[in-house]
Amino acid sequence: MPVLLLGAAEIRRLAADLDVTPTKKLGQNFVVDANTVRKIVHAARVTASDRVVEIGPGLGSLTLAILETGASVVAVEIDHRLAERLPVTAAAHDVPADRLTVIDADALRVTELPGEPEVLVANLPYNVSVPVLLHFLESFPYLQRGVVMVQAEVGERLAAPPGSKVYGAPSVKAAWYGSWRLAGTVSRQVFWPVPNVDSVLVGFDRDAEPRGTEEHRLRTFRIVDAAFQQRRKMLRQALSGVLGGTAAEASARLEAAGVDPTLRGEQLTVDDYARIAGAS
Ligand code: SAM
Repeated sequence: MPVLLLGAAEIRRLAADLDVTPTKKLGQNFVVDANTVRKIVHAARVTASDRVVEIGPGLGSLTLAILETGASVVAVEIDHRLAERLPVTAAAHDVPADRLTVIDADALRVTELPGEPEVLVANLPYNVSVPVLLHFLESFPYLQRGVVMVQAEVGERLAAPPGSKVYGAPSVKAAWYGSWRLAGTVSRQVFWPVPNVDSVLVGFDRDAEPRGTEEHRLRTFRIVDAAFQQRRKMLRQALSGVLGGTAAEASARLEAAGVDPTLRGEQLTVDDYARIAGAS
């Protein structure tokens, strides 16, 4: 049985060989611990028949752990040197070439994925984690589930229920696509370099049916943004700009959607927002 996973020494050797100094700009904190990458793959319930997409494979530690299950991987990496080296690393670890496709691109701009992967697994670049997640969920309807590692505050926000202190626009937008849960914590010590923030795993499962059309989604997201831009205000004030122009008009629209106009944005579910957008 070949040893697939990268050890800490090999990761540093690879980086030195490529002359890669991890940059903050690209959120480059590489996992150097085999147990952590196996834990992520386990949390994502990856099996041999899965087609997985990974955002930001970096030097390949998580990629090899996914490949170890027998699954196939499409990996999107923005750093050319890393994208170029990944197939070489996989081949050196006895991965058949047809199980890994590397796309050398900015994940925020990718519009199609070969093989229509149904699982997302990633240690996301922290500076773009929410936009990249929302972009993937919107662009690739075949993505059914996933587990991603993100900064703890972001993970808590994505999985937050209405009414909680950290519930915000990203929570509602993520919920548009499906259900989210916290799926474990990760020590800072498993990264190189060690980041100055904590990390968590978040899992999601897409809803069986899409919640609405693209037009409905855009209307809903505009209302969500307005509600949280002024989160201390009652909805009839916070939404007056996007629902008719005056507080009285906004109140009438909210009431038509069955929502109390004196509530605040943080008290509403995604269903409430979708109803308001449907009634506007
Ligand atoms: N998966 C690797 C690991 O766990 O060791 C690396 C994770 S590191 C947190 C984030 C990776 O995402 C880096 O390899 C970085 O170059 C890449 N990256 C950053 N921004 C990106 C973007 N917009 N599109 C694709 N990859 C990106």
